Amino acid sequence: MKAIQIKQPGGPEAMEFTDLPVPQPKPNEAVVKIAAAGVNFIDVYNREGRYKVPLPFVLGQEGAGVVSAVGTEAREIAVGDRVAYTNVLGSYAEYAAVPAERLVKIPAEVSESAAAATMLQGMTAHYLAHDTYPLKKSETALIHAAAGGVGLLLVQMAHNIGARVIATVSTEEKAKLAREAGADEIILYTHSDFEAETKRLTGGKGVDVVYDSVGKTTFEKGLNVIRPRGMMALFGGSSGAVPPFDPMLLTQKGSLYVTRPSLGHYVITREELQGRAAAVFGMIRSGKLKLRIEHVYPLADAAQAHRDLESRKTTGKLLLNTELSVAETNQW
Ligand code: NDP
Repeated sequence: MKAIQIKQPGGPEAMEFTDLPVPQPKPNEAVVKIAAAGVNFIDVYNREGRYKVPLPFVLGQEGAGVVSAVGTEAREIAVGDRVAYTNVLGSYAEYAAVPAERLVKIPAEVSESAAAATMLQGMTAHYLAHDTYPLKKSETALIHAAAGGVGLLLVQMAHNIGARVIATVSTEEKAKLAREAGADEIILYTHSDFEAETKRLTGGKGVDVVYDSVGKTTFEKGLNVIRPRGMMALFGGSSGAVPPFDPMLLTQKGSLYVTRPSLGHYVITREELQGRAAAVFGMIRSGKLKLRIEHVYPLADAAQAHRDLESRKTTGKLLLNTELSVAETNQW
């Protein structure tokens, strides 16, 4: 089978398009014939070696397709099932072996490309808005990189809850998308100071929560726009890692809460995984959540997908290797 393998960490050129044997399932695993694999920032970190992964490895942590083989102890999953998963390495390939307990069945009305676009970023947006800081109607959230993969989904979920959404983006094109997703206010944070603008938009009161995936360039100023006892949910570092800081800073800024959550800790049990996936699939089926699949690359062009993601050019979701038409998905 074809796969994208990393033998040595590095830039996009470290991604080798290669031939590997089709994996055989261990007793607790199922093998999935991948129809679509999601491209995510974590794949960049794994490729670069920022997160340590034993070498060599096949990239990718999100996929959807059809089960082609099951191990002797794999429960609840059968050959022919349409399934999706995340947080298991190896989806940049034609086939991947996945622990059966990490697979969720895709509802009939949801395409495989939509499912691949949902598992990591959709469930992330869901846990952020519903569990990390459970947003309420009439509260205000500041969402950075609002036209990104997680961003567009999080804006829609916050809007559907009834919260006021202040969104930051870098370009007018991204501003339009964030507005269509339900953002009430847009700040072009590459042109104006988001701290001053957020204070102005909230009449000096500050927001209840900041959802920050940008990190290095936004974190510190973000602490200045949160109301007393509000929360900073720092869930990524697209601009770089946040440097260490003194916890006394949180006292000075208003007894703030800071968390650095990760999806894995919000889908710990099979029950939680299935419940969260079902909630997001339900939003897609009811039309409350629209996916924006910006580009589908052939597997062989995975390196280009990484270059595009890192260059800050992309909006919404990037997929690899899908056999399905993007027109089939519920997007705008
Ligand atoms: P995005 O589609 O959001 O892409 C990143 C965006 O970040 C860019 O489009 C850009 O938006 C913004 N950005 C700001 N500064 C930079 C910079 N210097 N270089 C590149 N981009 C920059 O990616 P994802 O939705 O895939 O992921 C967003 C972040 O969330 C990542 O950091 C990822 O690791 C994290 N994440 C965390 C999870 C968790 O559970 N903790 C789960 C999923 C993702 P703009 O041009 O508008 O500024």
